[in-house]
Amino acid sequence: MEKRLHITPIGDEGMYILDTASWRVYRPVMDKEKCIDCGMCLAFCPVNAVAAVGKKFEITYDYCKGCGICANECKKGAIAMVLEGGSR
Ligand code: SF4
Ligand code: SF4
Repeated sequence: MEKRLHITPIGDEGMYILDTASWRVYRPVMDKEKCIDCGMCLAFCPVNAVAAVGKKFEITYDYCKGCGICANECKKGAIAMVLEGGSR
């Protein structure tokens, strides 16, 4: 599947395509057992990296930048930030 890129406006210079996934140091990992499908992670993600799949939510990694906002906003503690390529 072709990789999607995040497109953002940069004022007078128009639109700029960013590979925001390349910024990621920590990866959000969702625990489906803890998740109550409230959708707050989708609402707060600044790059729209959380997808609604029916009534469920999934993190997509094509342009997740690893900011951790979703983990902070999840009131159920269902998202852990895991070091990319690490053992945790
Ligand atoms: S904010 Fe947390 S509980 Fe709500 S949908 Fe996202 S992971 Fe699930
Ligand atoms: S870590 Fe940031 S960019 Fe990635 S899904 Fe969570 S809120 Fe979105």
